[in-house]
Amino acid sequence: MSELFVVTGASGFIASHVVAQLLAAGHRVRGTVRSLAREETYAHLRALPGAAERLELVEAELLEPSAFDELVRGARYVLHTASPYALDASDPQKDLVDPARRGTENVLEACAKAPSVSRIVVTSSMAAITDEPESDRVLSEADWNEKSSLTRNPYYYSKTVAERAAWDFVETSARSFDLVTINPFMVIGPSLSPALNTSNQLFADLLGGAYPGIMRFTWGFVDVRDVARAHLLAATTPEASGRYLCAADTIAMRDVVELLREAGYGDRALPKLGMDCAVGDYVVKLSSYFQPRGVGSYLRTHVGRVPRYDNTKIQRELDLAFRDVRETIVETVKDLERWGHVKPNAEAIAPASAG
Ligand code: NAP
Repeated sequence: MSELFVVTGASGFIASHVVAQLLAAGHRVRGTVRSLAREETYAHLRALPGAAERLELVEAELLEPSAFDELVRGARYVLHTASPYALDASDPQKDLVDPARRGTENVLEACAKAPSVSRIVVTSSMAAITDEPESDRVLSEADWNEKSSLTRNPYYYSKTVAERAAWDFVETSARSFDLVTINPFMVIGPSLSPALNTSNQLFADLLGGAYPGIMRFTWGFVDVRDVARAHLLAATTPEASGRYLCAADTIAMRDVVELLREAGYGDRALPKLGMDCAVGDYVVKLSSYFQPRGVGSYLRTHVGRVPRYDNTKIQRELDLAFRDVRETIVETVKDLERWGHVKPNAEAIAPASAG
């Protein structure tokens, strides 16, 4: 019989791809969603090939103690992806940190009572590795974010305390499972649902004129399908262990803008003004104080920095080959058009006979 996987936060951007890949591989999936009443948030999962036969959806709220006790029973693998993902929150403790940490502890406590569970994969983040990437240092799985707090990059803080809680739990508790974490950088790519993910939002913002100029930002990107595959491999590779930094290439904002221009989006409100210099950094830092607090601290801690990291462990131990994220960027933008998050490309929809 096929294996049973539990996927928390199944309707999310990354988890939807995880569920799709698990079903495609013939597995049974029990996915958790926050509310079964909000059918529009998970209708896309029901439509996946294999879903009618092998997908079960159940309700679970991260903050509810014992919410996961029943639903992990009988599962061999638990993939815990659910966690609030937003740079800003009006009450960072309540909105970000509590659900991230308590949710992780609730899932692990439930698994400790379920002898069937042999491995848990927690979706952590690059945010648990660094708060502000230092351009002269190569980051690896050995690094921990030591700087974030409730007032400085609170989302980063929530991911760090949640992952630390997970490792503390496995060190101190009796259990039948082991733990692996996936630590992705900025996850982009086509979405299986109409929702606009926080990371894909970057491209909607770039095309929509939200950036006054080209700033000195450099992002580490990874395709959502690779992140989903990393989760499957982390669960089913017996030797997998520890943390896995999951990021393909870094690309500077100037190159992303150029890429979008070359892909036919030059008619959009792409930034033109060159602010990728010391004066530009200063202007970004100054203006960051007029942004919501979480966004402001992100801008101040990331402008002018070029993240460098060693992504060889995941490629070597999980045999994961990364897609070319330049192609993913173009696919993402086409997908944003498909879902109506950016207006369709006039060139792309012009009749073939035109001219
Ligand atoms: P997403 O689409 O917003 O998915 C987050 C999921 O968590 C949603 O299904 C959401 O349910 C669920 N969730 C949030 N709060 C919850 C609560 N209190 N109770 C139950 N469920 C709750 O974001 P994503 O990008 O796929 O993120 C998935 C995971 O990857 C997160 O742990 C995130 O931190 C991590 N990650 C993401 C990125 C990225 O660039 N996207 C990078 C690194 C790590 P609702 O739909 O009901 O809100």
